[in-house]
Amino acid sequence: MSAFPPLNDLKLLRTQAYIDGRWTDGGRPSLDVINPADNCIVGSVPNLDSVAAEQAIDAAARAFPAWSARTGKDRANLMRKWFDLMMANADDLAALMTAEQGKPLIESKGEVTYGASFIEWFAEEAKRVSGDVLASTWTNRRTVVIKQPVGVCAAITPWNFPISMITRKIAPAVAAGCTIVVKPAEQTPLSALALAELAHRAGIPAGVINVVTADADNAVAIGKTLCASTVVRHLSFTGSTPVGRILMEQCAPTVKRIGLELGGHAPFIVFEDADIDAAVKGALASKYRNAGQTCVCTNRFYAHDAIYDEFVRKLAEGAARIKVGNGFDQGVMQGPLIDDAAVEKVERHVSDAIEKGARLLAGGRIHPELGGRFYEPTVLADTRKGMTIMSEETFGPVSAVTRFSNDAEVIAAANDSEFGLASYFYSRDIGRVWRVAEQLQYGMVGINTGAISNEVAPFGGIKQSGMGREGSKYGMDEYLDIKYLCMGGIE
Ligand code: ADP
Repeated sequence: MSAFPPLNDLKLLRTQAYIDGRWTDGGRPSLDVINPADNCIVGSVPNLDSVAAEQAIDAAARAFPAWSARTGKDRANLMRKWFDLMMANADDLAALMTAEQGKPLIESKGEVTYGASFIEWFAEEAKRVSGDVLASTWTNRRTVVIKQPVGVCAAITPWNFPISMITRKIAPAVAAGCTIVVKPAEQTPLSALALAELAHRAGIPAGVINVVTADADNAVAIGKTLCASTVVRHLSFTGSTPVGRILMEQCAPTVKRIGLELGGHAPFIVFEDADIDAAVKGALASKYRNAGQTCVCTNRFYAHDAIYDEFVRKLAEGAARIKVGNGFDQGVMQGPLIDDAAVEKVERHVSDAIEKGARLLAGGRIHPELGGRFYEPTVLADTRKGMTIMSEETFGPVSAVTRFSNDAEVIAAANDSEFGLASYFYSRDIGRVWRVAEQLQYGMVGINTGAISNEVAPFGGIKQSGMGREGSKYGMDEYLDIKYLCMGGIE
């Protein structure tokens, strides 16, 4: 078993799935949860299949009429209790997250706060779901719009943000009056189950939230069940673009509403008028957070000729200062990658770039002392189109920096991607700021900042990075149907 700090509340280490308000093994063999830092088992959870998914859908369907009939204020009060419990148990939630995901404890704590913020935000929004009375074109009829919850929802989530990717979906769903079945990533089910435990304690009724755990193979079967179900009216998925395509296809026969947060390949442009030190700081934050394993992490840096040498030198110095280690150790800023396949992908991207002429300025290998899945923070200069790293999502701690000489050239290069999630640029010229922000074909643009996510902002992408928005005042719309009432006979 992997050593991690003793939890203040041992009951938060839940090792059963949560269906219809009850903890269940489902009579299935266990799925081991591995700490990527040391390969030890943190705990084991049930490896459920489509039978359990059906049970969870049934439970959610039974819970829907009563839950959706409550007032928004009533739902908000329960959600507020859930939020308070998350914050009160933040240390334990963070410890569980670092144990199963590997990120530094300080990042896990940040994610607990970030994840909880969606519950707080949508609890507040629950009270503000209002319809509309539109101006009528008939004197004897009235045109009224009401909003209603879409019904039973499903969510499939990834391992890189084990709490916030779940709360970003559950919170707007339950605030709107929907009920939901969540299938967390096979690598990180313990954070999801701890969340369910706190929802249970907050008094959220049985069946409103269900968590079905499964390994990678059963995840496919469960995905099929959730997509094929005529009861499930909405599927929200965060993960890779290839899986997003599969799920979209599987949702077609039942014409389900879908929200997709898929892959990214963020460009980060440093113009010649930028504050270089601020750009380096933003670059480090955007690239190395969570060991580069986020869909909004920069994958391509573009630095202008005039400041190129200074930028790459300072970026390499910054990367070399990042302390790598077990996420529980003091001062660690970068943990392990999630699994061996992730390390292999990073190695492949780095060796391909070097073979094709990139210069290695920092890192470039598995950490010599720590070994395993610990990869050194890496900086490659002189990267160019045609290298794998310039088109495939790396999902690792590698910066690739390319030189450019004018605005039109760099905007074309930045937009030359099938992805359209996050983008970043640094400039102090107000005209350029507006021009570039409008021309970047991305759902999100960080201007003079490398950190863009919070609960108030609409998170989401265009092109093959997905559809729909999470968080913000727009996030609730995903879970609401608009109904038009044509009221006649008004004489
Ligand atoms: P990653 O490569 O980051 O693990 P994936 O897209 O493979 O991203 O996985 C994200 C989530 O999607 C996980 O919960 C995983 O179990 C689930 N998943 C993967 N493949 C499928 C599939 N074919 N059908 C349904 N869910 C899937």
